[in-house]
Amino acid sequence: MTLSLIPHAPKTEGARAFLQGGAKKILIDGEWIATAATFETTDPATGAPLATLARAGAAEAEAAVAAAQAALSRPDWARMLPMARGALLWKIADAIEAHADELAELESLDQGKTFATARFGEIPGAIAQFRYYAGYASKILGTAITPSIGYAPAGKQVMAYTRREPIGVVAAITPWNSPLLMAAMKLAPALCAGCTVVLKPAEETSLTAIRLCELMLEAGLPAGVVNLLTGFGAEVGDALARHPGVAKVAFTGSTEVGRILLGSARGNLKKLTLELGGKSPAIVMADADLSLAIPGVARGIFANSGQVCVAGSRVYVQRKLYEAMAEGLAREAGRLRLGHGLDPASDLGPLVSPDQAARVAAYVAGGRAAGAEVLAGGTGFAEAPAFFAPTVVAGVTPDMALMREEIFGPVTAITPFDEPEEALALANDTDYGLAASVWTESLSAAHRMAAAVRAGTVWVNCHSYFSPELPKGGMKTSGWGVENGPNGLENYLETKTVCMVV
Ligand code: NAD
Repeated sequence: MTLSLIPHAPKTEGARAFLQGGAKKILIDGEWIATAATFETTDPATGAPLATLARAGAAEAEAAVAAAQAALSRPDWARMLPMARGALLWKIADAIEAHADELAELESLDQGKTFATARFGEIPGAIAQFRYYAGYASKILGTAITPSIGYAPAGKQVMAYTRREPIGVVAAITPWNSPLLMAAMKLAPALCAGCTVVLKPAEETSLTAIRLCELMLEAGLPAGVVNLLTGFGAEVGDALARHPGVAKVAFTGSTEVGRILLGSARGNLKKLTLELGGKSPAIVMADADLSLAIPGVARGIFANSGQVCVAGSRVYVQRKLYEAMAEGLAREAGRLRLGHGLDPASDLGPLVSPDQAARVAAYVAGGRAAGAEVLAGGTGFAEAPAFFAPTVVAGVTPDMALMREEIFGPVTAITPFDEPEEALALANDTDYGLAASVWTESLSAAHRMAAAVRAGTVWVNCHSYFSPELPKGGMKTSGWGVENGPNGLENYLETKTVCMVV
């Protein structure tokens, strides 16, 4: 593992112009507006300031929700024909694609992730969200029903049909780990359904949400359909979650804030989708192909420096392969090059902030003090406080925080097991239920384990494979509801039944 501290500047004209374009504003009803209060966003690799952002609060939330409510019934949006709405979503996808390098540079600078992670993973993921739901806008169907009602007036018939209607104003509240992708996962189905949105990106990483809103307006999105409020969760996020004019909160973030939202949303019984934290196991069976499993499990935990909700932070290995897997994972961890996200030589960037790196360090220190053995990494860097070395820890017992809590950093615990039942018991010994991977060449073992692990997604011989066609949700405290696919669209629609005597 090496660390390079050479800072890098963006190469695209677009990213440079955006960063030099002065203090950023919020978007309400198609107008960019400055706020009295502001805050800074910084490059986590260097600590250098990147931009001054508007700090929205309750008053701005009020104005943005009013704008979104007005836009909901304005003819330019409410009467836009389904195919035109689909075409608009496709145009937004084209705009993101045309600015992919610029957006990837902004994401890398603001979040710390490598340019490659943003440019070849997450930005294409965001484009795919808009293209996938573009096709659905013209395929939102109700049903015609003949009800079994025998008490209609003589000579009359009862018939009924359902309408699928947009749920209303959506507050989309997103986390800092994959900012543009998380925003797209909410905006694309919400717009497909005909909803209007107030988007609240994470305070650490708002830049690509601002740029995306500029691009959506240029693509022809009517004013007020998407409004953007930058600011802090406890201030503007809370105001949106409590606002009676918001019909639904689409949230991705921590389980802790998910619990808070249950209370905030109760006033008008907002519909909630909660995509929350995880502590996902990777189960390596004795017949696994190690040429797949070693790099695959390593990517599953170290990609994006472990700041991935589905990161494989618990690795269970059948005893026959334990030594080889532990050595292999430690070797993979050791050869990753850490550096600035825009440095093409970097495999991993910093974590999102020095605070997050300190949090990760505290988990590793706690594990060490309780007797765990660090096989690789285990250290931060005084000269670069947001970085943390990719880390593999052995001897982590089920009661340790390292094994129970979401670390959200490049740290995994590796543990041997003897029988598959033992692996299942260990894998399911968690409050979370977001994802898991099983590594085996046996078809039967793959299906048996996939059925028995309590997790929203189970991968076999891969980890962290995503696509808009694949439903994504969490069991247990990993969340409520499913994003992606047709299920993802359902979150933004309500069914109205029209029953008539004719
Ligand atoms: P977080 O919960 O701290 O914040 C997420 C968002 O909620 C931010 O925009 C924040 O400002 C806002 N927020 C905070 N307090 C709020 C409040 N009281 N009311 C309303 N909004 C509030 O999460 P984070 O630290 O930004 O992101 C990391 C977490 O996100 C991890 O737990 C990770 O597992 C989770 N995550 C889950 C998924 C998934 O699909 N399940 C995907 C990515 C990240």
